[in-house]
Amino acid sequence: MKFGFDIDDTLINLREHAFHIYNKKLGKNIPVDIFHKLDRVEIHEPFGLTDEEGSTMWTSSLEEIYYTSCPPFPNALETLRELDEEGHDIFYITSRNKAHGERTKEWLKRRGFPVKDDHFFYGMRDDEKVEIIQQLQLDYYFDDKPDVLNTLVDKGNTVVFVKDQSYNRHLDFPRITDWGDLQRVISNQ
Ligand SMILES: [Mg+2]
Repeated sequence: MKFGFDIDDTLINLREHAFHIYNKKLGKNIPVDIFHKLDRVEIHEPFGLTDEEGSTMWTSSLEEIYYTSCPPFPNALETLRELDEEGHDIFYITSRNKAHGERTKEWLKRRGFPVKDDHFFYGMRDDEKVEIIQQLQLDYYFDDKPDVLNTLVDKGNTVVFVKDQSYNRHLDFPRITDWGDLQRVISNQ
């Protein structure tokens, strides 16, 4: 089978990692339960930042957000390794931009994710992921972001799953909350 995965906030806990970085950089101590209630992807509001300031904060912190110690979600690494060992094809499709694509690939490898160089795609807009997903004829695709998932409704034969996050609970896709449940969630489809 062909499995496709978004990376940020699907396989790795990037926004929460960034939330901790913001606390440190801004000298604040906003509790993480505020983070877990956010109803949008962006994380700057609890820090009192406007959208523009938040965008600047995100961009200026990107090096630290992307390449330090962002943890995978529980069981993500183990589950992908199992799929790889079972002979499935694993594709990564991230909208991280071109400047970060190759470094992100190497970072994932260093973290132990099973990455084949020609199974890694980056630098597309959210609404362009659908083209790659269709070209690859994926059996399964996983993402967290409403702007991506909404482009994948009734598109081809790929079964699309939403990785559960506070900002995507309104979406009606089969939902994965813990990567350890992957086999069970798939077999329910
Ligand atoms: Mg994502």
